[in-house]
Amino acid sequence: MKTVTHWIGGRPFDAAAGVSGTWGSVTDPATGEVTAQVALAGTDEVDAAVAAAKDAYTTWSRSSLAQRIAILFRYRELLHARRDDLAALITAEQGKVHADALGEVARGLEIVELACGLGTALKGDMSTEVSSRVDVASIRQPLGVIVGVSPFNFPAMIGMWMFPMAIACGNTFVHKPSSKAPSASVLVAELAAQAGLPDGVLNIVHGDETAVNALLDHPDVAAVSFVGSTPVARHVYTRASAAGKRVQALGGAKNHMLVLPDADLDAAAEAAVTAAYGSAGQRCMAVSVVVAVGSAGDELVSRIADRARKVTIGPGRDPASEMGPLVTKAHRDEVADYVAGAAAQGADVVLDGRDFTVEGFENGFWMGVSLLDRVATDSDAYRNEIFGPVLCVVRAATYEEALRIVNGSPFGNAGSIFTRDGGAARRFQLEVETGMVGVNVPMPVPVGYHSFGGWKDSAFGDHRMYGSEAVHFYTRGKVITSRWPEPAEVAAGPDLGFPASR
Ligand code: NAD
Repeated sequence: MKTVTHWIGGRPFDAAAGVSGTWGSVTDPATGEVTAQVALAGTDEVDAAVAAAKDAYTTWSRSSLAQRIAILFRYRELLHARRDDLAALITAEQGKVHADALGEVARGLEIVELACGLGTALKGDMSTEVSSRVDVASIRQPLGVIVGVSPFNFPAMIGMWMFPMAIACGNTFVHKPSSKAPSASVLVAELAAQAGLPDGVLNIVHGDETAVNALLDHPDVAAVSFVGSTPVARHVYTRASAAGKRVQALGGAKNHMLVLPDADLDAAAEAAVTAAYGSAGQRCMAVSVVVAVGSAGDELVSRIADRARKVTIGPGRDPASEMGPLVTKAHRDEVADYVAGAAAQGADVVLDGRDFTVEGFENGFWMGVSLLDRVATDSDAYRNEIFGPVLCVVRAATYEEALRIVNGSPFGNAGSIFTRDGGAARRFQLEVETGMVGVNVPMPVPVGYHSFGGWKDSAFGDHRMYGSEAVHFYTRGKVITSRWPEPAEVAAGPDLGFPASR
């Protein structure tokens, strides 16, 4: 059977030889079969990875920006050439359909491309002659060893949100991907080595809670970028901050799509189906709640249901499939329980995806699409992140009531409004309490040069991912004041007063 091992110091780590880790299983969600064994790091493997990154930092942080960028340009080409292979690995372990996996790789590549142009963002500021023969310069320098911890749902992209920017800034990196879908991250690291990235600049350790906690506590780690569920994000933020590290921790979501009666209801229904059921709902930007305002409700639910019934579900490697399975059996069963619970708590079950299977793939972790109408805001299906192909519809009489519902959620990742009324859209942009907002766009994932991140329980820490905020997160500021006095000024002797500008 295939084994997936750590990547430390520019080569596969001999997990058989060591040390304190164990092994876990990787499953193909479409067949239910175990396809690989993945090494799960203990503290020894974590120490080895951090030591490799610390070692590499001395040279890498002093390399010229031109050298670092040249490697990133070569890296971009290799990733682009191997995008199909990367997508195939994602599909085999995460389950999403191949076209969606290719989209994931493309969004990751976008950040590598952004990092290729980092010169402009890293540029410092200088003021000359602020006082007689005194200049002041502000520069930014790297932090050291950065850790990135990522979730199962984007096995390639989320690591690529983090390390290209971190290493372009002169840091070195240890990535801990999800052990449910670990293979894509290894290929991503192998290609970086082929592009000429020096050994130890990018390392991968697989593992679970043990590995993550060892990284959070490690004295040689300077900062932590995390993306995952809210409880783990909160834990990572608290623990790593207590250990004195800079932390950004993005959490879970419950993204609302508010539909006003004047909206183009066909466009809104299309958008809701795409955003709720794409990737089987396993996206942090998925729309999981539609808030239908006033008379929009009945017609919108009927148009969503018509379209949702037509979604083709099957193995991700079949080009005809539009939606794949859920990542594990346990997760599939949890999602199914939410549908059962919603019915018991008074929701109208318009579409019930629980009894669904795919011929020839009966052991896969399948769910059909579910559509729940008139969901109560105190029900479990509304309050929790389900992270599956389940769309809840909540009814509201007015815009004001709908906004109160959206802003009442403890999550604040993304929110969107569908309307033809520019004034209402503008109000929503200003009034909604989410970090990302869509106007007639259901999943407003910012492009690479704008930054990504939510509010409230969807993100802890004050820096967002990628864009200019990543440069701030992965560097620290330094201000240099220099004076080159004329001989006559020196001859005037010491001045014990507080230095003032002259
Ligand atoms: P998860 O929180 O279970 O795992 C995320 C990472 O943390 C993994 O690498 C995992 O190994 C590690 N981990 C898990 N439990 C841990 C623990 N107790 N202590 C330390 N580390 C632990 O998340 P997941 O199930 O892999 O991914 C789905 C979640 O990620 C959803 O909640 C989704 O909304 C969220 N997500 C958020 C964003 C965002 O940008 N806000 C993006 C993608 C996914």
